[in-house]
Amino acid sequence: MPCPCCGEKLNVIGSRRRNYRERSGEKKVLVIRRLRCTDCQKIHHELPDFLVPYKRYQADCLEKALSEPETCDIAADNAMIYRWEKWFCALADYWINCLHAIHLCFQLEKDPVNPMPTGSLTVLEQLGQIVSTGSGWLSRMTRPIANVNLWVQTRPTFLSE
Ligand SMILES: [Zn+2]
Repeated sequence: MPCPCCGEKLNVIGSRRRNYRERSGEKKVLVIRRLRCTDCQKIHHELPDFLVPYKRYQADCLEKALSEPETCDIAADNAMIYRWEKWFCALADYWINCLHAIHLCFQLEKDPVNPMPTGSLTVLEQLGQIVSTGSGWLSRMTRPIANVNLWVQTRPTFLSE
């Protein structure tokens, strides 16, 4: 896999253990490789499609809780799901801006995003217009943002009120 920033070769410089939880709540461990670009020197971590950076639960669990809360059957307590909703609301505008910026700058063939949505839509609907609402939207949104190192754990301070 080439460097997502500049397209040059990546060298494996180590690995780390990543804990995550499945829909059932069962704990799993995955080994993720640490990679450094031979050209721009940026460090990347391999991110499987089923995980979201910094989030314990699999992407499909978060996606289900966020887009279909009424039929959510995830083995996570209500406080956890409430925190996911807060996280999503706090960062959705930032993600939408990131996706537009990526789309304008790179026109990435492997991570296509659709043109800027218009009208007064919810943030979920806006994201749906960019990465489509079908199953896997959270991963389709996460990957291009993480690939250019714009993924953040919490709301960036420059966006805070
Ligand atoms: Zn690079």
